[in-house]
Amino acid sequence: MIPFGPPPAASANLKVCELLCPLTNTWNPEAIQLHLPQYEDHINSLITSSVSHQDRRIWLFDKSGEYTTKTGYNLASTTRLGGEDQPLEWQKSIWSIKTSPKIKDFLWRVAKKAIPVSANLETRGLPAFPCKRCGGIEDDLHTFLLCPFAQELWQFGKRFWKHSCPMWTPCWCYLTHRRW
Ligand SMILES: [Zn+2]
Repeated sequence: MIPFGPPPAASANLKVCELLCPLTNTWNPEAIQLHLPQYEDHINSLITSSVSHQDRRIWLFDKSGEYTTKTGYNLASTTRLGGEDQPLEWQKSIWSIKTSPKIKDFLWRVAKKAIPVSANLETRGLPAFPCKRCGGIEDDLHTFLLCPFAQELWQFGKRFWKHSCPMWTPCWCYLTHRRW
């Protein structure tokens, strides 16, 4: 599975049981379409238990499902997540993403704060302006993730572009926010 970005607020605390029909303990297609449409095929390929169990958090990097400092250290060593001495180089990673050159160029502009949203233009001496969709403070994060309009687009994009590059959604957020 590939991470799809931060979950929307409504799905942040989603549990497996919320994707199951409580009577039959089988997958609920409507719930999967609502919360995780990009993983629909993968989820449907999983055979559910005939017995209902309580949801619990598990650590994927140990067979027991329990976190251990050893597996945590190994993960941090191999992925270098959050390491202050060797931070993840997002900008270099952009060019190795399997997507179109236009999307890579777009992501590069986001990473370089070159998208003409209010917060970026303000750093270049232009007056600030609110989000034209909701009146919120317009910066990259708001435009592409936090604006209610952007969140609607993400929901729409997950369904519409289910089998293509999910990065089209932030492109549409940008295109539908811009002022020209
Ligand atoms: Zn907004």
